[in-house]
Amino acid sequence: MRKLSSPLKVVTLSGLIMIGLSACTSSPTGRSQVILFSDSEMSQLGAQSFEQMKQNEKVSKDAKVNAYVTCVANAITKQVPKQASFAQWEVVVFDSDQVNAFALPGGKIGVYTGLLKVATNQDQLATVLGHEVAHVLANHGNERMSRSQITSTGMQVTDFALAGTEYKEMAMSALGLGVEYGISLPYGRTQETEADIMGIDLMAKAGFEPQQSIQLWKNMAKASGGNQPPELLSTHPSHNTRIQDLGNEIKDLPRYNASAPNCQA
Ligand SMILES: [Zn+2]
Repeated sequence: MRKLSSPLKVVTLSGLIMIGLSACTSSPTGRSQVILFSDSEMSQLGAQSFEQMKQNEKVSKDAKVNAYVTCVANAITKQVPKQASFAQWEVVVFDSDQVNAFALPGGKIGVYTGLLKVATNQDQLATVLGHEVAHVLANHGNERMSRSQITSTGMQVTDFALAGTEYKEMAMSALGLGVEYGISLPYGRTQETEADIMGIDLMAKAGFEPQQSIQLWKNMAKASGGNQPPELLSTHPSHNTRIQDLGNEIKDLPRYNASAPNCQA
């Protein structure tokens, strides 16, 4: 069993003052964030959570679907600066009707086949993956874990592998995996907007059509009209204002001259 590198994060009053002094960083869009965990701790947590997902969920062996999802994911992650804490991105397709996808620190991407019924072309899939990868790049999981570390009483990480179920579930939901474990922990509005802005930029840089992001969220809204809204929406709110904001964001995008990827569904 591997240990997280800095095992005890005991938050006391003096600790909180120190956090104020030392752990305040800026997100990629310049927003100030409290970040308590190191990149390598987050990567380790992401990798361990991903292994757990692969054990618990059915991994798709469909070569065509895997090639398609990997093609879109690779085009997005190629636009991401190389990370010090991990060497490359791993992409896994889960065979499930869930309309869901996630990206984890440590370079892990999971896509459920159910998503492909709502994200109906490469540009719409790139919208979701750009958005999820942006959550990772902007340290949103770290930020959420740090916040709950500050507000929780006596919840200390000593070893994720040995940690109690309650802590594991908290950590996984902070990474956006809550749905699978029965906890729906939505990202904050600020984090969502930030992931939207960064995600649109990533997909445009990769040569995808940003305008399709509007259609994607419309499809999501339509899919949520039924009794069972898509899982993705239980952690990712979709609103008309968001669609409007995206429209404005797309208008302001710089012109990128990347040629469009040709990922075949
Ligand atoms: Zn999101």
